[in-house]
Amino acid sequence: DSNVYYEDDADTAQILEKTVAVLGYGSQGHAHAQNLAESGVDVVVGLREDSSSRSAAEADGLDVETPAEAVAQADVVSVLVPDTVQPDVYENAIEPNLDPGDTLQFAHGFNIHYNQIRPPEDVDVTMVAPKSPGHLVRRNYENDEGTPGLLAVYQDTTGTATEEALAYAATIGCARAGVVETTFREETETDLFGEQAVLCGGVTSLVKQAYETLVEAGYSPEMAYFECLNELKLIVDLMYEGGLGEMWDSVSDTAEYGGLTQGDVVVDEHARENMEQVLEQVQDGTFAREWIAENQAGRPSYTQLREAERTHEIEQVGEELRALFAWAEEEADEETEAVTA
Ligand code: NDP
Ligand code: MG
Ligand code: MG
Repeated sequence: DSNVYYEDDADTAQILEKTVAVLGYGSQGHAHAQNLAESGVDVVVGLREDSSSRSAAEADGLDVETPAEAVAQADVVSVLVPDTVQPDVYENAIEPNLDPGDTLQFAHGFNIHYNQIRPPEDVDVTMVAPKSPGHLVRRNYENDEGTPGLLAVYQDTTGTATEEALAYAATIGCARAGVVETTFREETETDLFGEQAVLCGGVTSLVKQAYETLVEAGYSPEMAYFECLNELKLIVDLMYEGGLGEMWDSVSDTAEYGGLTQGDVVVDEHARENMEQVLEQVQDGTFAREWIAENQAGRPSYTQLREAERTHEIEQVGEELRALFAWAEEEADEETEAVTA
């Protein structure tokens, strides 16, 4: 149902004639800045005077200014500092230096969707969100490959917000792979739900509880680690390549039958109800309010949860096992390098 755009749909002149301020030079920032610059866009990176990222951006041959100076020079402000600091950077460096007709460009919708940033009515507000960590956005661009991305327009005062965002997507390499049109609301809510229910939350809980079940039943921690964590990668790789079908086709009939009959026993209708509750708290802003308050309080629960996760037995077992099998990883890295070289 969604619109998908490709390079042919983009008029890169919409961005080539503009100055883009890339605020932040971390995961996304370094990739967007270098890809834009190599595509011929006028780029200025905005970083604090004492920023630890300054030397990297300068070594990559980019102009670096303070965030406020960068915004003052720019037509498009790409907000690529961490989501939790964006409201502060917006208030202090961006808002005072925005001109009518400028664009605020995001890679995630959280602060706009949950009203942590309230832009003036006379600027465009867009999102181009690569569906990938920054180092891949950069590496794919260098290899003439694309990185799939999302595009959304929250506010279009100039009438050209979509065209400009699409041009931005093309010049960072996303339109080579395909850019899916969405909204700030949809991107934000599905992103939060996905990472909580499956990608970061659901999967880690499934792994830990399965590991604990085996170890408490007397099986060796090493076997539990391999079966419940290590092999997950093989399964996910198959699903990534060819969906659930390719995974089912590749495992044994016994694994397929057991999986098909027991999967819904483990992740049952209670898990489904819990998922619906997680989604509701994303939709009604409960999660966002909790996370903002947690940050304002100096992250007390977050710190505790991180520590508990770090000291879980599976982490220690894994560290020892991965050291024993380090050769396998090095070999895989060499293979990847050979392929991408
Ligand atoms: P990072 O955590 O990698 O950003 C770090 C950069 O921000 C550093 O250059 C840091 O410099 C700078 N920075 C931090 N605090 C400040 C501040 N107060 N003022 C100025 N600069 C600051 O961010 P990400 O790239 O992970 O995320 C950026 C955006 O991209 C977010 O909206 C995120 O949701 C989105 N996104 C991220 C993806 C990812 O894979 N990481 C994927 C898709 C979207 P300093 O040395 O000064 O601290
Ligand atoms: Mg995500
Ligand atoms: Mg996210």
